[in-house]
Amino acid sequence: MSILITGANRGIGRALAKEWQSAGEKVIQTARNSAGMETLDVADPSSIKQLAKRLEGRPISTLVCNAGVSLDKFDEMDSGYSPEHWAQSFAVNVTGVFLVVQALLPNLQANTDAGGASKIAIIASQMGSQNSPAGNRFIYRASKAATINLGRNLAVSLKGDGIAVGIYHPGWVATDMGGGSAELTLEEIIPGLRKQIDGLTISETGCFKSWNGQDCVL
Ligand code: NDP
Repeated sequence: MSILITGANRGIGRALAKEWQSAGEKVIQTARNSAGMETLDVADPSSIKQLAKRLEGRPISTLVCNAGVSLDKFDEMDSGYSPEHWAQSFAVNVTGVFLVVQALLPNLQANTDAGGASKIAIIASQMGSQNSPAGNRFIYRASKAATINLGRNLAVSLKGDGIAVGIYHPGWVATDMGGGSAELTLEEIIPGLRKQIDGLTISETGCFKSWNGQDCVL
């Protein structure tokens, strides 16, 4: 079983990698630029293609699309929310997820063909929920709404191939993105998040769950 994680050099991605590694799982850690990790910039289609070429023929059981950006944290309505922030956020949080899934589908398929259960875990956010608008963070919320939508559609598309797709809200966690006021620590959420991903089966493909197993509001 081989698990690939995007954005595995810090935050949730790095903590998830450590959690699986300490349980003896083989983890392919990818990062934009980090020694000892596979290079992958999810916003750069040529970087994605190069990774897929390097991994050609290697089965992957679990693909964790974790890399994400939150660029509008301090944006103000009158001066912020620039076109550049919109473009970059969607390139990483949405297009990047799709292109990585598309490029690594043969690896997931190879795992299925060998009799394994293949799955894709997409780290989204409850902030992308359509039903809890807060009237702020327009870019991050819209991009994560699109991430959730993408995951739900991938689930339908890949069900026939036996590849399960789960969408996860990791909680508000103290990382560089989550900040110092976050409600939860990595130590609190990682075992639960891993449990949700490990337990994902094709029968619940398309689920949107929190790190603790609670159903999230779409
Ligand atoms: P961090 O900011 O701590 O880490 C983000 C990770 O994404 C880093 O490894 C970063 O790499 C990577 N990344 C960003 N852009 C790219 C790119 N173009 N290509 C490859 N990697 C990239 O955030 P978290 O660990 O907190 O967040 C992880 C995921 O969880 C994100 O998708 C986020 O939206 C989601 N999430 C987080 C919450 C929280 O409270 N922390 C709440 C809800 C969702 P680099 O070091 O190169 O920048």
